[in-house]
Amino acid sequence: MIVRKSAAEVEKIDAAGSILADCLDMLAAEARPGVTTAELDGLAERLIRARGGLPTFLGYRGFPASICASPNDMVVHGIPGAYRVAEGDVLSIDAGVTLGGYVADSAITLAMGAVDAEALRLLDVTAESLEAALAECREGRRLGDVSHAVQEVVEAAGFSVVRSLVGHGVGKEMHEDPQIPNYGDPGRGPRLEEGMVFAIEPMVNAGGHEVFVADDGWSISTVDGSLSAHFEHTVAVGKKAPRVLTRRGSERGAAEG
Ligand code: MG
Ligand code: MG
Repeated sequence: MIVRKSAAEVEKIDAAGSILADCLDMLAAEARPGVTTAELDGLAERLIRARGGLPTFLGYRGFPASICASPNDMVVHGIPGAYRVAEGDVLSIDAGVTLGGYVADSAITLAMGAVDAEALRLLDVTAESLEAALAECREGRRLGDVSHAVQEVVEAAGFSVVRSLVGHGVGKEMHEDPQIPNYGDPGRGPRLEEGMVFAIEPMVNAGGHEVFVADDGWSISTVDGSLSAHFEHTVAVGKKAPRVLTRRGSERGAAEG
């Protein structure tokens, strides 16, 4: 069942989302060749706690860190550690913030130094597919319209949508109904209503869509070794327009429906 949030609840998720947006902007500024993903994790946890939030991921089903840091062919759920970011990497960072009992969830993929043109195109297309999906988050649309929007942008660019990982409802819990695949048929699925809050998160591979879980039990990578990108926003469905609750300062002025 998709639980609709009250206006007051959406404000609470927005407050968590503001901390998270600032956290990701901070990480984008600090991430550079030479830094370890453990160092980025420490910076994230410090900022989140300093702002009065809790790092949602830490301890979630036993996850040992505050962020997921997933370089290159790693799609999602990378455990921060000794990995040292290198020139030419693409690095996906996913984080969650809980504040006042409500959760926001967001992710970005960063280009580290000089990155090849095809990798940059992967990042641009993935971010564009997220914006296309966010624009569908208003009354009168169906969940399939959101899923289809991602798929259409990604596949038109010649990339693949990861099928075994999905977006989700978010609110009191990080993962609520519904599941939101990044592919699907337009005009199908539940009708969107004001107050539904979703974490929409295209995970896009430069090569094939197949992924596998590593021996660490968490990190998920592409089977063919191709690069992968991940962007995510938490968004409240509005009557006429979506309200993105994790919009970063660095992207304001970008498409806001
Ligand atoms: Mg996330
Ligand atoms: Mg998520």
